[in-house]
Amino acid sequence: MVSLPILQFEEKIVQTVQDNPVVVIIGETGSGKSTQLSQIFHRHGYSKSGVIAVTQPRRVAAVSVARRVAQELNVNLGEEVGYAIRFEDRTSPKTKIKYLTDGVLLRESLSNPELSDYSMIILDEAHERSLNTDILLGLMKRLVKLRPSNLRVLITSATLDGNKVSDFFMNCPVLTVPGKLYPVEILYSNERPTSYIESSLRTAIDIHVHEPEGDVLIFMTGQDDIEKLVDKLRDKVQSLEEGSCMDAIVLPLHGSLPPEMQVRVFTPPPQNCRRFIVATNIAETSLTVDGVVYVIDSGYVKQRQYNPTSGMYSLDVVQISKVQADQRAGRAGRTRPGKCYRLYPSKVYQDELLDVTIPEIQRSSLAGSVLYLKSLDLSDIDILKFDFLDPPSSDTLEDALKQLHLIDAIDTSGSITNVGKIMAELPLEPALSRTLLEANEYGCLSQALTIAAMLSAETSLLPGRSKHSEKKRKPPPDLPDGSGLGDHIQLLQIYEYWHQIDYHIGWLKDNDLQVRGMLFVRDVRKQLSQIIQKIAKGNLDVQEAESERERRRDYKNLRKALCAGYASQLAERMTLHNGYRTIGFKSQLVQVHPSSMLRTDDDGMFPDFVVYHELISTSRPYMRNVCAIKVSWVIPIMKKLENLNVNRLSGGSDQVTDGEQRKSSSLLQQKNLAIEQDDRESKIQAARERFLARKAEREQSLGRKAKK
Ligand code: ADP
Ligand code: MG
Repeated sequence: MVSLPILQFEEKIVQTVQDNPVVVIIGETGSGKSTQLSQIFHRHGYSKSGVIAVTQPRRVAAVSVARRVAQELNVNLGEEVGYAIRFEDRTSPKTKIKYLTDGVLLRESLSNPELSDYSMIILDEAHERSLNTDILLGLMKRLVKLRPSNLRVLITSATLDGNKVSDFFMNCPVLTVPGKLYPVEILYSNERPTSYIESSLRTAIDIHVHEPEGDVLIFMTGQDDIEKLVDKLRDKVQSLEEGSCMDAIVLPLHGSLPPEMQVRVFTPPPQNCRRFIVATNIAETSLTVDGVVYVIDSGYVKQRQYNPTSGMYSLDVVQISKVQADQRAGRAGRTRPGKCYRLYPSKVYQDELLDVTIPEIQRSSLAGSVLYLKSLDLSDIDILKFDFLDPPSSDTLEDALKQLHLIDAIDTSGSITNVGKIMAELPLEPALSRTLLEANEYGCLSQALTIAAMLSAETSLLPGRSKHSEKKRKPPPDLPDGSGLGDHIQLLQIYEYWHQIDYHIGWLKDNDLQVRGMLFVRDVRKQLSQIIQKIAKGNLDVQEAESERERRRDYKNLRKALCAGYASQLAERMTLHNGYRTIGFKSQLVQVHPSSMLRTDDDGMFPDFVVYHELISTSRPYMRNVCAIKVSWVIPIMKKLENLNVNRLSGGSDQVTDGEQRKSSSLLQQKNLAIEQDDRESKIQAARERFLARKAEREQSLGRKAKK
């Protein structure tokens, strides 16, 4: 193995880390940060006094890098070298080097705030600026003060603005590892292609036919497009005249690929064979594939963005930033001079691309993170003023506080409640944790666990469930039909049936259900029930026996629990059509997602009220995964909306202290609040009236039908 750049600076790095509690290390992608730093410090005895932790924003990277390091050290994965990602822990008491997602480390710090198991924490891929890494940065700042003598923190990154982080950590040293990057020739398109799949295909084949050997890395935005391009590329390569060019293999690379497919990109190709690797931005910095000489860059990336005003997520294809474009190009110059084909004009690069990517913290819902920070119980933390490298917008923070209050995780003065504390311990989003706790009270925890597991599965479980599919999902035919009550209940019934027939794999296949996904759900469910058994009062076995009764009751308790958990995600149907209006801080018109299994009643209408799992904006705002609920459960929640004071919720003081300005703005706020309150009162009233009107109408029409 050629010595990786980082190894040439081993002594310097070790010395600097010895002398400083926090060090930033900047090095080219592929220079060995992720795989070598942990080993360097392992060699220098840092793993004697504790475990060396290396965080990764992506699950795939944690697994892949751990596997690689175990291989290099010639040990079994899970022993000296292991990894931990949500719902999968492959470590043992022997583990000295532990790769984990940033989310898992955050969770660990809940039960062990000083993270005393670790002698060193390496926050890797910090330039990705994932939400969890950003929060960890803030926490590390406190932690190094608490453990100045026995903890070392390293922050590593390919492209991060080292000085900014250094400023944040009181001018800590920044080490730059010079990488030897070969020149990369950049070729721009004259104009934007109408289809970047077709354009990538043409460019790839052009390279294959005309350019000397070397692998081709193609950046696409997501799994769907990757699969399309892989198919087209395979067809095209096959149709080339035999002997006209070298052999070719086409490989996909993205986060939802099964592990055995992922590792294929790391096996060297046979002689005289060109590889085409079609990847998401995972290949930008997280995973380095050797042998790449040509890069095709679509210029786009898929990004989830959250709009706190509407409470809506959208999965948008957006332009990459200049930093990302340069990263992508750099992938071509690792082993020798390469070429990067940008499928956009240089003018776009110059004028349109942002300089840097917007950090996730500024485009996510923060309900989970804020609950987390609240549960740390650090008395001096006012969430609205937490020490962030880049603070989120106050809208987003306020949105999170309100959501948390509605589901009882924080009280009116912003203190975390007992319910909130338990919620924070569950590795689930707040709405689902809350649902579980409520279900436990009602004796239907077992079923709520199944729903939580089904919703947590990252892969698509059902036919037509792919992100873009607008096809209606279909429940398997041999199930009780729960679709009148919505997706949650239907998902539950699918799982329960599968459980009844002893997890029969053939049945999954016959019904087009994803085998890998369903096995994952079963595993997640088991883990969740282990975690919650410790805190729950109820006896799960008894509850499982309850399930038939609950079914006969139309899942009333279960749906009530969902209503409590998703109190900030309610919607009311319009009187005359099947559109809905969300209930909450900002009401808006939304539709049931076309893929939903929710069915209309005999009159062709959807239920009056639903909770939704998420709001997603594609061509228009849609609710994905909905469950029918009752108006009587909704009224108390609407009442709760009345008395909200965000300043108090943040944990800061709501007292008017000094200065005229504060006073007047606070007065203004009070006035606004009063107006909002009026507004809400009348909304509640209106909702009641609409409901009653509908009910009367319904009864009349039923009466008519009965008469006929
Ligand atoms: P960095 O974190 O600085 O981007 P890495 O430590 O991830 O760099 O990678 C260093 C080298 O190890 C690269 O040349 C990469 O190709 C190689 N490598 C990493 N993971 C694997 C793997 N699973 N199999 C084979 N080679 C790998
Ligand atoms: Mg890395």
